[in-house]
Amino acid sequence: MPIAERMAGIMSRPSAIRDAFEDGLKLKALYGPENVYDFSIGDPDVPPPPRVKEVLAGLLDDPSVNHAYMPNAGHHYVRENVAAYLSGIMGAHLTAEQIIMTVGAAGGLNCVFKALLDPADEVLVPAPYFVGYNGYVANHGARLVPVRTGPGFQPDVAALTAALTPATKVLLINSPNNPTGAVYTEQTIRALAEMLEQHYRDSGRRVYLVSDEPYRSIIYDGLAAPSVMKAYPHSVVVTSYSKELSLPGERIGFAAVHPEAEDSVRLARAVAVANRVLGFVNAPSLAQHLVGRLQGLTVDIGIYRRRRDMICEGLSRIGYRFTRPKGAFYLFPEAPGGDEARFIGLLKEERILAVPGSGFGCPGYFRLSYAVPDTTIENSLPGFARAFEKA
Ligand code: PLP
Repeated sequence: MPIAERMAGIMSRPSAIRDAFEDGLKLKALYGPENVYDFSIGDPDVPPPPRVKEVLAGLLDDPSVNHAYMPNAGHHYVRENVAAYLSGIMGAHLTAEQIIMTVGAAGGLNCVFKALLDPADEVLVPAPYFVGYNGYVANHGARLVPVRTGPGFQPDVAALTAALTPATKVLLINSPNNPTGAVYTEQTIRALAEMLEQHYRDSGRRVYLVSDEPYRSIIYDGLAAPSVMKAYPHSVVVTSYSKELSLPGERIGFAAVHPEAEDSVRLARAVAVANRVLGFVNAPSLAQHLVGRLQGLTVDIGIYRRRRDMICEGLSRIGYRFTRPKGAFYLFPEAPGGDEARFIGLLKEERILAVPGSGFGCPGYFRLSYAVPDTTIENSLPGFARAFEKA
């Protein structure tokens, strides 16, 4: 076989999101894009804030901006700016030394996992979870262990405690969550921290808390995502500007290691070296200069909030059951009738594209991304109603 067996295995596995995307292309060719209601992809359609273009234009004439190699962790002043801003929201004293600029959150997670995971280590993750984690963990020979969440898709601390083993190295969380839109409460974060501290007291084994936070500022109802760094010193925050600034194609994010984490200095260095040995070398330079000047800026959250309200009100009027999302731009309803594959098929008959919950480790549900125009939501509601009736 010309390609690696492991890669052939990955390629042969179905991808729920890719399948929905490809179905969408076929339907759009047949019926016209305006007649297909594509809720499958979490691709931000809200434009970046105007300041992004202004700063980008300014960089072109800035003599301090060059195109040279740099330290693997990124431009020092950018990391200083990130550290200063993040210290404020995390309630921890971070410096440039703890910040590693990365190729988006995906690149950041891969660097952190490369730094922390040996083959056969286990990564606990509350399910449903972002589908990309399967690959990111497997890349390092480790094993992802999904653990079902409790009411409101909050992590179930008792179930997670029961899933801890001598091989557990990382607890991976994501809040605001893809695919549920759940925001983990401060009480939940504190309970998770206490669970990991207790595990250390009982076993002497340190489990790191890796918090994937690309939707941190896409949050509604006056909420703020609680700080994992305040709750647990052995934590690493990974995030990006893909959603906060609608810049997913620019591939820019960072990892931040808690200054009081066990082996913190070596861990931060390991993440930077991982950037190099994984072949990223460093995060894109121009994008670093850009985000380094835009700390605290966010897309217009009002647009996502309006769509959240539209889709929640429309679907609940029809009779769909779901937990109202508090952040991100996803809704994760129960599949009417219980059979998600059949229901996804019924939606497709209405030219509505959704992703089955099993793709996120949670069968019996489906995911809708409402990063779509208002008209897509409005015009899809009669189809949602007909599919519901048939189910
Ligand atoms: N983590 C979560 C929960 C996501 O939803 C995504 C992208 O959709 C990523 C990570 C990867 O984001 P990035 O584009 O920053 O690599």
